[in-house]
Amino acid sequence: MKQKTKMIHGGITGDEQTGAVSVPIYQVSTYKQPRAGQHTGYEYSRTGNPTRTALESLIADLEGGAAGYAFGSGMAAVTAVMMLFNSGDHIILTDDVYGGTYRVMTKVMNRIGIEATFSDTSSIGDIEKAIKPNTKAIYVETPTNPLLKITDLKKVSETAKKHGLLLIVDNTFYTPYFQNPLSFGADIVLHSATKYLGGHSDVVGGLVVTATKELGEELHFIQNSTGGILGPQDSWLLMRGMKTLGLRMEAHEQNARKIAAFLEGHHAVEKVYYPGSPSHPGHELAKQQSTGFGGMISFDIGKEENVDLVLGRLKLFTIAESLGAVESLISVPARMTHASIPRDRRLQLGITDGLIRISVGIEDIDDLLEDLKEALDSLA
Ligand SMILES: *Cc1c(COP(=O)(O)O)cnc(C)c1O
Repeated sequence: MKQKTKMIHGGITGDEQTGAVSVPIYQVSTYKQPRAGQHTGYEYSRTGNPTRTALESLIADLEGGAAGYAFGSGMAAVTAVMMLFNSGDHIILTDDVYGGTYRVMTKVMNRIGIEATFSDTSSIGDIEKAIKPNTKAIYVETPTNPLLKITDLKKVSETAKKHGLLLIVDNTFYTPYFQNPLSFGADIVLHSATKYLGGHSDVVGGLVVTATKELGEELHFIQNSTGGILGPQDSWLLMRGMKTLGLRMEAHEQNARKIAAFLEGHHAVEKVYYPGSPSHPGHELAKQQSTGFGGMISFDIGKEENVDLVLGRLKLFTIAESLGAVESLISVPARMTHASIPRDRRLQLGITDGLIRISVGIEDIDDLLEDLKEALDSLA
């Protein structure tokens, strides 16, 4: 089955009892047991809920994994995955990893003895250098946020296997429609479902898929023990969003390609980061391992003052955190998503004060281009 068909027919569809074609919202916490200690597959909704199960099996199908798990947010998903490790373990993460992931590793996981090194995972040499006797996993985001650096999933997976490490991939930016990390040998894929999977800026959630049933069982144990589950209403909303994921991703990308080309030709723009541009250093690699380049673009307009001028003039790009929804959003990583990263570290990574990130929506491209042109032309 192809991905767009799986989005409609994958996982668990409809309701056998009534014939309803959409999975019902099982707004329930507990389930009647025919005899004490005997249950019908569901006993308590932290452990399992039929609406959540349908979502979990859908994401497992889309990522081609053995099992899926749904959490109350992307960060709850990241945290649950980290709970697979023990005090004294060391994890190597992509250096310009999502700000919240950086924060949880450096302010929370460190307190319970899980050590992190941030390394440029687009360079296998840098990963090899960071490996220590207690290293247990490599955690990769590709493309990264906000600079859209690409990591070679096949090579990093070979490196992980050679050293007996788990490979974890945050696939939020490309989604299973454009990229399937498990097919390159990753062990765990996770998502902030708040972004493209939900796609409508109306739900916060996180999803994890494991390559094997065993790893899935370990993760379910953590999910049930720590309890950061997604509720049935939000599980249903996510499934509803995911039915159109393929169509939306295609529309996001079509618009993004045109916007990236426009930005590259504009005098006020110093640098454009978009993996779909042939000038992007990760372009060839992205072409090999993904079926699309996505809808995220970052660009640098130099001075910090320029940022407020441009953002103040835009009408169709809403200033907001988050990404991946039908409406175009714009953000300033240094002040917003990456504000929790110290300034010198940010500058080291290339996240300057003049860097702007846009999540290209699915509005009519002519309107988006006109809006951007009007705002950027205002800069001398
Ligand atoms: C948003 C995001 C997260 C965190 O997800 P939440 O749903 O906001 O908790 C993790 N990784 C990436 C790449 C993200 O964009």
